Amino acid sequence: MKNKAIVFDFDGPLVGSGRDKSIHILFSAYVSCWETCFKKFLHPENPEIDLEKMLKGLKKYPGAPRFQQLSAIISCLVRDKPEAVQSPAELGIDSHLQQQYKKLQEKYNEYYSSLNKAAAKKFWKVLEGVKEIIEKFSKDYDLYVASGIIQEILEKDFEHHGFDKKYFAGIMGSNTTGDIDKSVILKKIKEKGYKDILFIGDSRKDFEYARKAGVKFFKVKTSDDYKRLLKQMKQTFPDEQDVCEFSEEEIKLIKSKVLALMKLYASGNRPTYDEITTFINTGKFGLNPQ
Ligand SMILES: [Mg+2]
Repeated sequence: MKNKAIVFDFDGPLVGSGRDKSIHILFSAYVSCWETCFKKFLHPENPEIDLEKMLKGLKKYPGAPRFQQLSAIISCLVRDKPEAVQSPAELGIDSHLQQQYKKLQEKYNEYYSSLNKAAAKKFWKVLEGVKEIIEKFSKDYDLYVASGIIQEILEKDFEHHGFDKKYFAGIMGSNTTGDIDKSVILKKIKEKGYKDILFIGDSRKDFEYARKAGVKFFKVKTSDDYKRLLKQMKQTFPDEQDVCEFSEEEIKLIKSKVLALMKLYASGNRPTYDEITTFINTGKFGLNPQ
């Protein structure tokens, strides 16, 4: 064991997919409401209303486990409150809807996973230069991955993108119940007794996880951020203080893509996962939206 450790978040710092995922999350939440009894909370004539509400949930829980994110978004639609819940009863909905919540989760899980799969296959790439950086860092530090992705999927993604396990002391993801978040993983790593730990994440939430676990933080969204990091690596790790989540430009882009997809869905179109990811990444639908 080396005396310092660097922990990478997977989405964003290792594989560039962060913005797509925000779009996937919002649109999958919308579809899962539409396809269940939760449709009654939507405004098919005015999807802007639903989008504005859902955005509040997303902004508060980016990078959180998927069902925690979902519950915050649903909470916004149902009661205009961006708070994640442990059980659907906390949403103040009747018992029938509470029972339907499981169905909503299943639908969301399936749709969101399928979108991610289609996008990963076609568009998501390892950040330029990151494999060389991993090799370099591994000489001086123990390396870990801490992710909100479910463990089994994380391991598959890791392999799919050709990362080498030999450089890592641990690859740690979340579980289906969503009670293992990145702060829990970071705390576990901290318990091993490292002198200094740096968490490299790409969201405000990641920064909060680092603070909660008492480790340092650096935000990486692009390969340029790694250049910035390398310059700041001295005797001790750098530690960024104020981290904002989305730039206004990013929010604008996310909103325009999600709204176009929502309108398409509300008009009865059912684009395939492949068509959706192509639209998100190229602006082209490959079908004629009405
Ligand atoms: Mg991330």
